[in-house]
Amino acid sequence: MKELEKTYTDLNTSPRILLGPGPSMAHPRVLRAMATPLVGHLDPQFLQVMTDVQELLRYAFQTRNPLTIPVSGTGSAGMEAALCNFIEPGDRVLVAVMGYFGERLVEMAGRYGAVVDRLDAPWGTVFDPAQIIAALQQQPYKLLALVHAETSTGAGQPEIAEIATAAHAQGTLVVLDTVTSLGTMPLYVDEWDVDIAYSGSQKGLSCPPGLAPLTVSERARAVLRARQTPVANWYLDLTAVEKYWGETRTYHHTAPISMNFALREGLRMLAEEGLEARWGRHRQNAEHLWSGLEDLDLPLLVAPEHRLPALTTPRLRPGLEDLKIRQALLNEYNIEIAGGFGPLAGQIWRVGLMGHSSRREHVAMLLGALAEILRR
Ligand SMILES: *Cc1c(COP(=O)(O)O)cnc(C)c1O
Repeated sequence: MKELEKTYTDLNTSPRILLGPGPSMAHPRVLRAMATPLVGHLDPQFLQVMTDVQELLRYAFQTRNPLTIPVSGTGSAGMEAALCNFIEPGDRVLVAVMGYFGERLVEMAGRYGAVVDRLDAPWGTVFDPAQIIAALQQQPYKLLALVHAETSTGAGQPEIAEIATAAHAQGTLVVLDTVTSLGTMPLYVDEWDVDIAYSGSQKGLSCPPGLAPLTVSERARAVLRARQTPVANWYLDLTAVEKYWGETRTYHHTAPISMNFALREGLRMLAEEGLEARWGRHRQNAEHLWSGLEDLDLPLLVAPEHRLPALTTPRLRPGLEDLKIRQALLNEYNIEIAGGFGPLAGQIWRVGLMGHSSRREHVAMLLGALAEILRR
């Protein structure tokens, strides 16, 4: 037997204030819920937790879709599920790309054998709906995929309902990435007639990463049922997963029990606060941040009308050392923010105010710390 060559210390992380693009801070109530002793994944008490989570998710998404579930995995698992269940090899897919997560949609759709066309908007801007609508009319697409809140740039795509109406007129399903928008800004899945929306537990819902809320319209379920080929991903195959989350509660894979406890608590808190109050809180804290950053001579990348309340992207003025400042924030003030990437690397910071992280005192702490660092 080979012995270990070292000893391992207690896990003892610093009390970080998480103001990056995710994970955001888990609420203490959520962390307490996670410490609840396990029950089995088919225990009647867990089945009730599942029902609660589904009902609360329908509220969060503003939908009546029966197929509304937390997919096991992070937001990317939700993205994967939203694509693999509806794409068959050779299907044409249109992706509207205005940042990194749009790029990821292109990459994933291609891996499931889709013939992918992409539209591009410069990072930091959004699409004029007419641009997407014109592309939809060029040829019949099975799927249109786009990002509601682009966390890589801080821009939010407006007029989703108008885009969805145009897609449906062509027989195209609409996939919407709501990872950063769910629980942070207005989102109406049914009213906008979005077919498939997915999200993540660790952004606006004040939970750790690990579950991906997903909702699927009846229109999209009909497409799923009409598939000629099996879903290419066994773990995320909704034809099987929907049976565990549906009437029969048939085993497919073991649900992450503690994460579902967490999500139930995060969603219960969202319901207590109320969606509109929650959106208002995110908006108000973001506005404090925006004016504070501008006072520090850090102008914002995104035009005011397209800014995300959950993710703000100040531009670095020449001479500011991106990494050095972020390291000072982390090491001296315990505050995490993120840098830009892709075409925006070194040019912006990404400051998240999501879920439990969206608090007035966090804004004050960050602005105070930045002012001190910039004064040096
Ligand atoms: C964070 C994020 C994802 C990916 O989620 P993970 O939890 O990191 O897998 C996808 N889309 C958007 C818009 C995101 O912000």
